[in-house]
Amino acid sequence: MSATIESRSPQRPSDVVATVPDSDRRAVASAVASARAAGSAWAEGGAVARANALNEAAAIVAAAADELTTLIVREVGKPLGEAAGEVGRAVAILRYQAQAALDPDGETYPNAAAGTALLMARRRPRGVAGLITPWNFPIAIPLWKAAPALAYGNAVVLKPAPAASAVALRTAELLAPVLPEGLFTVVTGGAEAGTALVEEADVVSFTGSVAVGRAVALAAAGRGVPFQAEMGGQNASIVLPDANVEAAAAMIAGAAMGYAGQKCTATSRVIVVGDPAPFTGALVAAVEGLGAGDPADKGVVVGPVISEEARGRVVAAAGEAGAVATGGRAGSGDGWFAEPTVVTGVSPGDRIAREEVFGPITAVLPAAGADEAVAISNGVPYGLVTSVFTRDLDRALDLTARLDTGMVRVNQPTAGVDFHAPFGGEKDSSMGPREQGKHARELYTSTRTITIAPAGG
Ligand code: NAD
Repeated sequence: MSATIESRSPQRPSDVVATVPDSDRRAVASAVASARAAGSAWAEGGAVARANALNEAAAIVAAAADELTTLIVREVGKPLGEAAGEVGRAVAILRYQAQAALDPDGETYPNAAAGTALLMARRRPRGVAGLITPWNFPIAIPLWKAAPALAYGNAVVLKPAPAASAVALRTAELLAPVLPEGLFTVVTGGAEAGTALVEEADVVSFTGSVAVGRAVALAAAGRGVPFQAEMGGQNASIVLPDANVEAAAAMIAGAAMGYAGQKCTATSRVIVVGDPAPFTGALVAAVEGLGAGDPADKGVVVGPVISEEARGRVVAAAGEAGAVATGGRAGSGDGWFAEPTVVTGVSPGDRIAREEVFGPITAVLPAAGADEAVAISNGVPYGLVTSVFTRDLDRALDLTARLDTGMVRVNQPTAGVDFHAPFGGEKDSSMGPREQGKHARELYTSTRTITIAPAGG
């Protein structure tokens, strides 16, 4: 029998949610071959047919929302409210991309020479899109890649993270009735399956850690296929002295600890300009007031982390910090819980201030002024998103222009980005074109420049 992998529920690790094949190269090559065969008819079948299929897919996911929400809670420990929100976002993405299929598919240009010849650049699909995804948004990330890929006429092979195998397989099963056979296939497995997919696909979209993203980018570039890699973050919230402290603390607590901090956009550093004590007190109170526990319980916003190893990372990071203002320990019980943790006494050069922990932990760092806050914020290898909390519009505009991140949010949490706006970061956080919204077209299409001249010359 071929090898298998298990996906376990983080809140109840004895609950094996799925046992799935650890696909090898042959299995991946076969999925890509089927996708390629199905892809030509899909691309030639017309934009209206593609738009209709994606709208039907949206309706199917909407009708299965409760079931998918329950599965997401069980498989990756995402709190119920956020899991329901993620399914709602998946539906919105499918609807949005259904319409994108009907967008203008190119531009016309004035002809350089006199006469009636037409010069145009038309978009065309790239072929088979190989999608490699993390476990933390088990339906939204696969679909924010797959929906535009399909809308523009590509076929899709999705390699989900092992810990999110069940959600990916159920999603593909739900969509099967409205998509041609082989057009959208899930291959389960780990690094071997991912590597094989990068070696077979015509275009690659990856979301996950920096180390793997770089390997994927190198392999795709080596083959000469277009790629995109969305990776980690070490996101800061800057709190200026004139900020509304209570409101900022509440938002930052949610952005740092929601879903146990397991979002690329989570706030992991809070840079407080001026005396940090009043803000730190408000943040600790807000964090301690968050509902923590079983993610299936209404009102819980901090569930478990994804694995025992992830829990160990949080506890170790707290141990390295100068002082723990709240939390810092593993939770009780069998599940992989870690206490929501705020640490202080941290310098910008410390590991916790520079490296992604990917758990419910955030560090408070003081800054003497706004310039120092910008320098601390920009002084990490990542550049995904920064928040600024202030009532001073001039300050907000100034900082927005100087922060080296792909997204800047004023009086808003770092986490929670709209699905129809471009998404991506700078430095180690992203490579290649932006995802989502109209920007998705850059990765999933190429242009063909066409000149049509009268036969007379
Ligand atoms: P990961 O890098 O461990 O895995 C991501 C995917 O790559 C998985 O499907 C995995 O099986 C696959 N993979 C592993 N080794 C591979 C290889 N050698 N070749 C090809 N594929 C391989 O990441 P993860 O633990 O699943 O997710 C957490 C990370 O994802 C965090 O760093 C987080 O910041 C990041 N993330 C980024 C975004 C974003 O949009 N920027 C969104 C969500 C998560």
